Amino acid sequence: MQIFLTYDYELFFGNPTGTVEKCIIEPTNKLREISEETGVNFVFFIDVGYIKKLGEYKDQFPKVEKEYKKVVKQIKTLVFEGHDCQLHIHPHWEDCTHDGEKWNMVTDRYKLDDFSDDEIDSIVKEYHSILENLTEKKVTSYRAGGWCLQPFDRVKSSFEDIGIKLDSTVFPGGKFTEGNYYYNFVNTPDQGRWRFSNDLTIEDTSGPFWEYPIASFYYNPLFFWKLFALGRMFPDDHKPIGDGYPMSSPGLRKKMLTTGIRLSASVDGYFITKLNKVLRVNQDLGYDEMVVLGHPKACTKFALKKLREFILKNKNKHSFLTFADLDI
Ligand SMILES: [Zn+2]
Repeated sequence: MQIFLTYDYELFFGNPTGTVEKCIIEPTNKLREISEETGVNFVFFIDVGYIKKLGEYKDQFPKVEKEYKKVVKQIKTLVFEGHDCQLHIHPHWEDCTHDGEKWNMVTDRYKLDDFSDDEIDSIVKEYHSILENLTEKKVTSYRAGGWCLQPFDRVKSSFEDIGIKLDSTVFPGGKFTEGNYYYNFVNTPDQGRWRFSNDLTIEDTSGPFWEYPIASFYYNPLFFWKLFALGRMFPDDHKPIGDGYPMSSPGLRKKMLTTGIRLSASVDGYFITKLNKVLRVNQDLGYDEMVVLGHPKACTKFALKKLREFILKNKNKHSFLTFADLDI
């Protein structure tokens, strides 16, 4: 099995967004320590809209300048150490401002589909070039912010122009169309990866793009009751390191606690307890690939410990890779 441990490198998008130190720098450094010990590298999907906005405000506000320098330095370090820094777009940054103290988040236009064709093309190209300039590497892989990349034909030509070859946004069976979100992955090929052209969820064996779907897992209500209880009872181990609040997802918490929900398989917090099971499921399905999703901001002390154990247990049985390791 090829295992890809992927982390979306970003702040929270609610109010407050949390600090760069707690949401990004500190937990990412903990991941770097695990990488150094185990020899396994990670994929970091960098929220480039954030970097763009830091760049815009850094000369105006000393606080932003410090934040900008920390993030740029850490990303350069990640690249130097062999981690794979790829493109993650949350286009709502276009509408966000900084007042010298904090970010004022506006998330009405949360997904690329909320923008015009010209805006989509210029956002995708500008963010891609910001990241390539920063990493001094070719950026060829993509993950959409909030899993929102449909309808894909609205971004297809921009992706082709800049040389995106791989997407890792889909998680089979996932669907959420409330609030600012729209994704529908109810029907997808029953494969560990597939080629596509106009639609992320339809295989086209001669298509120009590869989909490396995130593994998918049904988390039952009991799981969420435990997760919320542990956070209250043992905050030191189970509270996320990140100190911000997520954007609202209407009805999601209720769904979690009553019917359970199918989500992308995650290494965040208590979700990591299902990682061995996710691996078995992917093996039983006959897949050769398993992508799992995490966020530095959602790392807990408990999750970092379990991640280390998972890697040490599996690194001789499976290959831990990044997308840059693939020859596609
Ligand atoms: Zn994101």
